[in-house]
Amino acid sequence: MRIRIFLFLLFLCPSFLYTDFLFFNEKKSTTISTVTKNGWVYASLDDFKRAIKISFLQDITKKRFILNFSEHTLTFIPENPYYLLDNKGKKMNLPFISIEGKSYISLSDIEMVLSDATDKDVFLICPLNSIVMDRSTFNPDSIILKDEKDKISFTLTSETEIITSIVDDKNGELELTLFNAVCKPTIIPPSNGKGEIKKIVLNQEQNKAVLSFFYDVNKVRKIEKELISPGSSIRITFYKKEEVKPPKEEKPKKQYFINKVIIDPGHGGKDPGAVGPTGLTEKEIVLKISKELKKILTREGFTVLMTRDDDSFVRLRQRSTMANNLGADLFVSIHCNATGGRKEAGGFETFFLSTAKTSWARAVEAKENAVIEFETPSEKKSLLEFIFYDLLQNLHLRESSDLADFIQESMARNLTIEDRGVKQANFHVMREIYMPSVLVEAAFISNSEEEKQLKKQSFRKKIAQGIAYGILEFKKVYEKKLNK
Ligand SMILES: [Zn+2]
Repeated sequence: MRIRIFLFLLFLCPSFLYTDFLFFNEKKSTTISTVTKNGWVYASLDDFKRAIKISFLQDITKKRFILNFSEHTLTFIPENPYYLLDNKGKKMNLPFISIEGKSYISLSDIEMVLSDATDKDVFLICPLNSIVMDRSTFNPDSIILKDEKDKISFTLTSETEIITSIVDDKNGELELTLFNAVCKPTIIPPSNGKGEIKKIVLNQEQNKAVLSFFYDVNKVRKIEKELISPGSSIRITFYKKEEVKPPKEEKPKKQYFINKVIIDPGHGGKDPGAVGPTGLTEKEIVLKISKELKKILTREGFTVLMTRDDDSFVRLRQRSTMANNLGADLFVSIHCNATGGRKEAGGFETFFLSTAKTSWARAVEAKENAVIEFETPSEKKSLLEFIFYDLLQNLHLRESSDLADFIQESMARNLTIEDRGVKQANFHVMREIYMPSVLVEAAFISNSEEEKQLKKQSFRKKIAQGIAYGILEFKKVYEKKLNK
């Protein structure tokens, strides 16, 4: 164990450093000379006499050196590692040596020997070439580092009076000199790692300790010195420069508008849709209602596009592709209803895409999806694709449901025929549309009374108005919601 400590000390004290050592005792410092023998460094005991009261006796006959300290007597034999502390035998790392009548003990033994002789703590501080007697000799006792958001401060506090001087070369080095100060190297607080203070170097000299603060001029904007308590406490504050952050791109808040509507008149061409008692076809009536709706919406400021504006056959897939490619905000498909057996059925209803909830919704769904039969097999989609599109469509389920509500309510205010309410069904035409979409069944073409009405321009206009106002309400509510 002893050897290990010894080696450690040797490691800390490479011999080239040993010109002089400083011995700090109470408020005095004394220079202690050293000699080197066989590679080991020895400190002159005679030099300690100026700092500590020691009397030397040399017993030539017995070849003994007797050192009388105030508290104890130490007896050494040259070239012998053993010594007597009063009457107790002790062993050093290296023997006591005498050169030209002067006494030396190894630096590695200095702490133990001086401590034995004086009953005080002795500290050998190799990096600073210092030997310090008595813990209270250290001053300042501590340096407290406080790293805050905008500054780093170092507060030095000492129990004994210290006189300080601060020199800032304004070029990255601030030198704090502490007169009458003895510092332990461990007093230096660890770096905060952010680079404002690159390092702190301590240099112990005979009558002063010098702390050099190397700071980054690019990161420190101001240094402040402050005497908290003259003679015993001082604070140095390095103010951090504001970090130059890349200017944040002020994104103009995106405004959402619901401006583009796709009107999808159902059926057309080879697909007549439902046919009324007098032969009136769904495809011709829904085109007329759609054109009327377009007129109103255009007047209201919407950009309106139609999936067809003549009697042409448009595949379901084409309709949805058109809607998506044009980047429309809403999709409204216009149809007229029909029943096979129950000729008396009548009224209007609005659907949004979802799984059909009732058998009636399923029947309407089947009727409107029947157009698939007009399409070539290659145009039919795989089940997997449908599931995928359903998922996407579900993103707008809430909006579609609201749009259906607004349209249904608005139509109810405009029409006297039966309000059949909002329903859910799974229409192919809406499956691939990634926007709020609804399908309006305006009236029953199979009902002779409603077929008669549908032939009238005024009735069709009322339907168109009902749908248009529903869209307007949806626009008003959703734009407010989206731009909040
Ligand atoms: Zn239809």
